[in-house]
Parts: sequence; structure tokens; C-alpha cells
Amino acid sequence: MLSLRNFDIKFVKGIGPERAKLLNSELGISTAYDLLRHYPTSYIDRSRTYSIRSLRQATGEFPYLQIRGRFVSFNTLGEGASMRLIGLFTDGTATIDCVWFKGVREVRNRLAAGHEYVLFGKPSFYRETLQMTHPEVDPPERVEAGPGVRAVYPLTEKLRQRNLGSKAIHAAVVAFLQSRKAPLRETLPPSVVTSLGLMGLDEAIHNVHIPQSSAALEQARMRLKFEELFYIQTDMLMRSRVRKAQLQGYIMPHVGRWFNDFYHNCLPFDLTGAQKRVIKEIRADIMSGRQMNRLVQGDVGSGKTLVALMSMLLAIDNGFQACLMAPTEILATQHYETISELASKIGLNVRLLTGSTRAKQRRLIDEGLRDGSIHILVGTHAVIEDKVVFRNLGFAVIDEQHRFGVAQRARLWQKSAVPPHVLVMTATPIPRTLAMTVYGDLDVSVIDELPPGRKPVATVLRYDEQRQQVQRGIRAQLDAGHQVYIVYPLVEENEKLDLRSVTEGFEAASQLYAPHKVTLVHGKMKPADKDAAMQMFASGEAGVLVATTVIEVGVNVPNATTMVIENAERFGLSQLHQLRGRVGRGADRSHCILMSKHQISADTRKRLELMTSTTDGFVIAEADMQMRGPGDIEGTMQSGLPFDLKIANLAQDGQIIQLARRAAETLLDADPSLQLPENRTFATALAMMLNRNTDWSRIS
Ligand code: ADP
Ligand code: MG
Repeated sequence: MLSLRNFDIKFVKGIGPERAKLLNSELGISTAYDLLRHYPTSYIDRSRTYSIRSLRQATGEFPYLQIRGRFVSFNTLGEGASMRLIGLFTDGTATIDCVWFKGVREVRNRLAAGHEYVLFGKPSFYRETLQMTHPEVDPPERVEAGPGVRAVYPLTEKLRQRNLGSKAIHAAVVAFLQSRKAPLRETLPPSVVTSLGLMGLDEAIHNVHIPQSSAALEQARMRLKFEELFYIQTDMLMRSRVRKAQLQGYIMPHVGRWFNDFYHNCLPFDLTGAQKRVIKEIRADIMSGRQMNRLVQGDVGSGKTLVALMSMLLAIDNGFQACLMAPTEILATQHYETISELASKIGLNVRLLTGSTRAKQRRLIDEGLRDGSIHILVGTHAVIEDKVVFRNLGFAVIDEQHRFGVAQRARLWQKSAVPPHVLVMTATPIPRTLAMTVYGDLDVSVIDELPPGRKPVATVLRYDEQRQQVQRGIRAQLDAGHQVYIVYPLVEENEKLDLRSVTEGFEAASQLYAPHKVTLVHGKMKPADKDAAMQMFASGEAGVLVATTVIEVGVNVPNATTMVIENAERFGLSQLHQLRGRVGRGADRSHCILMSKHQISADTRKRLELMTSTTDGFVIAEADMQMRGPGDIEGTMQSGLPFDLKIANLAQDGQIIQLARRAAETLLDADPSLQLPENRTFATALAMMLNRNTDWSRIS
């Protein structure tokens, strides 16, 4: 398999230099290896033929499928670049338009009205008309000769137009596999293949492209998914084992004046048991002489910031500097303010550095960092830029939100000869298996307890026609002296419309709830105006804050007891959970009202109803992933991985992830640096996957 990385696809039968160029530019396929690893995304059952009538009645997105019938007529429309050919096709139950934008003459010459054909493609509705663009068209006798299940490959529009469709890719794969004399060599360690009863590589590659049966296909896919996840788990584990064994960390044995002063004079409440436990875990790490890489997971409001701050104080007590990084400027600013305020009594020198820090301020910060007078630097990515030089950075906190990958963490580790201890905090709970993959190289602490007195936020789903009732409820809360958030979605694609609705919502609320004051905050306002508006709400002057999602990472107003989320159906579950975390921070019972229009899909209703039935962030995160499938979460998560997954799915393959994790542990227990002869092939394959040399001790 490895040597196939040197086999140029232009030599594969049926491809040639022209198509090779296209495949390379469109799909990044340049070698036979890439071709075999270009897995089908779905399969169609060739024994099943759809009636056009049934398609007309369908809703939602269509899969690739086949229909059978005859062309009634062909029509060429437009000229030059906009020329297209429309073939009206019928199977006797209804009609469908077949559309070609490219290769019109060739298609016109090849196909004849009145003959029977089998069409293969992905139907869609275009302005109410059912159509199929660039279908594959075969006479029935050619189709029946093929296998029962047919692979459908990921393509681009350009490939389709150039007649390099799924069928052509499939043909190339088949031709290549048939031209091979020897089977593909196994790349997984033999012990793993045997103990888990995995399908061998050769058989798996054959079956994923040319399934012999659905059972064989299932096994093939399982094997290939496992393989990807196993590479990742092995890499993660090797990194963390090597680091633990070799990487020296600063030793921080003292608990001194900063920590104690803070603990005795600034802490306005008792730490929760979970906070104490996690601080102890961190203390043990930083005393050990090894570099710490620890992930702290905790639900919204569980008090992670405080844990981070107290850990940084420990570092400062030992003569080191600390930094805290957040993914956005708003979040960084908020952390800066929280920390400055909490520690104001003890004279801690805390500074903020972001992309918009002025040059003059920046010079002062540079100076303070170099001479060591700055204790804590809070900021965005700006903090890890090369030009930022600390005198002795000993402890780094990353408030993560899924945006810092392994690569960014590695940059931190490289910031000094002895890497600082690293604490990663996730603001959104993420499912365990996902954490295992994306943060697989970190030790994990969990803050599984909320500060006392928090009451779960009572959450309800309401529809537009119940608006008046909702408004009465808000009024009652305001009259009782409480405060209310009204949140609107704001997404880039919809920005203008969204801004209009938030502004209109603000005007309506101003009238409805007078004499209570209403204030407005959205992402397009100037920072100063935003601050002023936030301040009005935080001080209690305004009873209502109408806002877009900026408050997601924003304020802490315990007197706010109600949150109304407009167009709740447009938010992701984890996002709703984060938002909801803004209320329920005081002693009073809090409410969250999810407003939605009545016409929502069953799935959406199910998602919103889940929000009303639980406040457990982990349950919500898990459900969010499962329901959304490979959605946002996965997308952003994936960016933290060492290579793109081609077949495994982080959202759905949790069990395989666990299996891979255990297998990697067993393997490395027996052969820590993959030196055994039977594991050499795997070690080489892994290094190639990761695009690195095999010397793990030099990584990170
Ligand atoms: P997270 O970042 O985990 O969402 P924060 O650190 O922002 O949570 O804490 C949420 C709120 O809870 C803050 O107002 C914080 O001051 C408060 N808090 C933190 N720890 C405690 C505690 N042990 N007891 C009471 N309140 C706490
Ligand atoms: Mg936080």
C-alpha cells in the first residue's frame, strides 16, 4: 500500500494525463494510493428503480438513485456559455428534466429519443421543476451487467461537467485493482487485526469500492474507520507518553503569598468540592517535575475561570508568569475584567493583549513581560505570536471553545526551552469520545458540580401565537424587580435581515415594557456603544437587554432571571445551552423561553424539546452531535486533528473511537516506540499519515 503513494494516477487505465490533472486539482488525488482512499460516500442499490412519480411527491434532499424510461425530446436552450441541453424523460408515471451544461453536442449525438435508458443521478427541484443535472445514462443491458451495489463517489461540479463522474472514478478504481498481481499489504499491526478480527486491508479496499455483499461492505467500512481512528489514537497516546516520560516541566512546589492572599482576602465564596479537587490535581501536576497538559471540562457556570486563576497564582508564587488565551476578543476582555476585579485587592499585575491593542500600550506590555513585572497576560491568539516574549512563562491557560488544535498548543510548548504547564478549559462540554480524540493527548479533570444555590433554569418551548402570554410573563418579572434578556440570532449570511429583526424587537420591547428601560446590543455596534449598553443592563438601570448572540460569551448579571430566545430553532443545542447559562446565576428561580415558529421539522422540535427536559450540558452536547451528525461541532473539531478523516465520523463513531483507543493502549504497552519488527510497517504508515518523521520524542 505504501508504495502506491509513488504510483502516479495518470498511469491508471482510463485516466491519463488530462484527467489526472483534473483529479488532482479538484480532489487532491494524485497517486494510486489517493485513488484507493477516495472512498465512496454512499451506495445505490442497483436492483432498485424509482418511479418518477414517487420522486415528485418526495420532500427533502434526494440521494443518488436510478430511474428507467425514455427521452421524449431534446431541446437546446441559450447560447455560448449559457447553452444547455434539456432532455425530457419519462417512465410513464411522470416526467423529469435532464439538464446538461457541458458536453452538449456529445450527449446529443450519443442519446436518442424513444430508446430505453437507465438514468443515474441526484434529482432536485429547480423552481418547482423536477430535474437531474448531468445524469449518467446507460442502455439497460450495460447496467444489468454491473454488480448489485454501486458506489457513489464524492465529486465536484467541474468533474461532473467534464464527464469524470462517479462511474468513471469507479471504473478507474476497478481497473487499477484488477491490474494488481499481489494483494495490498496490511498496514495495521498484525496483533490488532487478529485480536479484533478486523477485515484485512486488501479485502477492505476491494469491498469498500466493489461491495460483494452488504455484510462485507459493513466490515470493510468498519475496518477503514477503525484504521483512521487508530492512527489518531496512537499518535495522541505516543505524544502524551513521550511527553510524560521525557519532557521536563517547571517544578512549582510552593504555595505562597499570592495564592494565600487571594484565598483568604478576595474569594467571595467557598470553592465547590469539584473546584478544590481540580486545583489539587493541577497542584500535583506542577509539582511533579513533568510538564502538565491538562484539560478541565465543566459545564457553563461551574466556575472554571476561578480554577484557572488560582492555578496561575500558584505559578506566580513560584516566580513564574502566566498567560490566559481566549478564542475571541470579547471573551478575552471579559476574562481580563473578571480576573482584574477578583484580584484587585492583592495588587496583581494583569494585562490584556489583543489584535486591537494600541502600539504604545503594546510597548508597555512588551516591557512588562520582559522585565517580569506583568504577572498575568490575558489575550487572544496574539499572545502566542513569536514576537511576544516573556521573561519566564511558566503556566498557560487556554479557554478553548474547540478552536485551538494540537498545532496551536504545540506552539505554546515551543515558547521556551522548558515548556510551560498548559491548562485547557472547554467552555462547552463535549462528548467523552470526542474529547478522547481531539484532546486525546491531555489528562482530563472534570468540574462536575455547580456552585451551591443554582437552581436549574426552567425551560419552555413557546410558539408565536403564544407571544402575548410570554409578554405578560416578562412584564411580571420586570415588575418584580428582575431583569430579562431577549436574544436574537445573527448569522453572517442573514446579517441584514437579522439586524432588522433585532432592532425591531428592541423597538417593540421598548414600547411594550415601558416604563422599564430597554437596551440594545449587537455585534455590529461600536465597542464603546456596546459597552455602554451592557453597562446599563449590568448596573440594573435597564430591565431588558435585547441582544444578538454577543452575550453568549458576555455578562454575568445574577438579577437577570429570564431569557427569551427568539427563533430558537435557528440555534444549535450547545449554543442554546451556553446562552441559557447566563440566567440562573442568582438565588431566584429562572426561566428560559424558547420562541419558535410553529412550522418546524420533527427533528427541530425534538431538539428544542430536549432543551426543555434537561440542563445537563453533557447530555445536550451528546444529543447535539448525534442529531446534527457531522455538523459544526465536527467541522471545527476536525481542524484540531493531524489529518482529515475520510471515512470515520467523530460524531457517530464513538464506539469505534473507544475501541481504537484501547487497541492503541495495548499496542503501546507492548511496544512503546513501535520498534518491534511486526509493527514496523504500521510505524511507517503512521509516520506517512502524519507527514512526519518517526521520531516521536521530537514532537510537540
Ligand atoms: P464557567 O467559566 O465555568 O462557565 P465562571 O468561571 O464564569 O464559569 O463562573 C460562573 C459564575 O460563578 C461566576 O460569577 C463566578 O464568580 C461564580 N462562581 C465560581 N465559583 C463559585 C463558587 N464556588 N461559589 C459561588 N459562585 C462561584
Ligand atoms: Mg468561562
